[in-house]
Amino acid sequence: MKIKFWGVRGSLPGNAHPYEAKDRFSFLMKAFLNSGYKSADDIEVFLKSIKHTQLHGFGTATTSVQIFNQKNPLQNLIIDGGSGIRYISEAAALNHCAQKEYHIFISHFHFDHIVGLPFFTPHFIPGYKINYYAVQPECEDVIRGIFKKPVFPVGYEDLKAHIQFNTLKPHEKVNINGFMVTPYKLDHPDPCFGFRVEKDHHVYAHAVDSEINRRTEDALGLDAPFYKNVDLLYIDAQYAEEDMTHKKGWGHGTFERAFELGTHFNIKQIYMAHYDPNATDQDIQKFKARAEVYYQEKRLKEKFIWDFIYETQEIVLR
Ligand SMILES: [Zn+2]
Ligand SMILES: [Zn+2]
Repeated sequence: MKIKFWGVRGSLPGNAHPYEAKDRFSFLMKAFLNSGYKSADDIEVFLKSIKHTQLHGFGTATTSVQIFNQKNPLQNLIIDGGSGIRYISEAAALNHCAQKEYHIFISHFHFDHIVGLPFFTPHFIPGYKINYYAVQPECEDVIRGIFKKPVFPVGYEDLKAHIQFNTLKPHEKVNINGFMVTPYKLDHPDPCFGFRVEKDHHVYAHAVDSEINRRTEDALGLDAPFYKNVDLLYIDAQYAEEDMTHKKGWGHGTFERAFELGTHFNIKQIYMAHYDPNATDQDIQKFKARAEVYYQEKRLKEKFIWDFIYETQEIVLR
């Protein structure tokens, strides 16, 4: 199984702040000169030596994740239609991809998880098929409401693809396109469901958006199996615990809570995201440094590995 993260920001897609470009340019110029490079001919070599996040940042698109069968990339699922989903159709067009059927799971209908759907071009192409899946029965009404004047110029009835809606049941496993998928309830103000995706003995758990209020087996009850023996947990860590006094009830988690799940449920890798729209790349780097201190202090090294994810990052489960 391979997971590609096309959008990792939360709440609102954003452009980098103008001053971020200046900071990044300044950092790169200093690093170039400190590395001993002098000529313009060295620029490409130098840029290849720079970490992805230092060069590109963490990204600005909102949640959209694609899960591939590593042996056959045309077999895949998409979770959430944030602004990152646009890159999926762009990449498919660029690569002359033969895929004509898509399976899209929607966790919930907050804007940041559906805003990219009108820009997912397979909707407009005859001969294509799009299957939507959600626990919430209102999924069809919401999607129809997006493709509707005056909020979008093309009406739902004018879409050329064949579109089908499927309602899932919480805790009920379904086989979709060769993946076993089970929805579980997350801790969010409006109903929001995480998806546990299993294939070839590998498990991916998609857990955005969630305040992660329930972190023990007892508290989670029927939702506890969501986190058990997960290979890769992708989870909402928009805030740190000290922010929660004034962000309580907003429906977003913290790295401390994500780490607690990791220790309770024997999770192998935890990747965190759903970055605040106001967070600059430098803010996220500082946040990551704080998480590292916490991880070391709590001696979690033997338990799991973790990181903050960046847009377009791919992780292969072997
Ligand atoms: Zn969100
Ligand atoms: Zn939300």
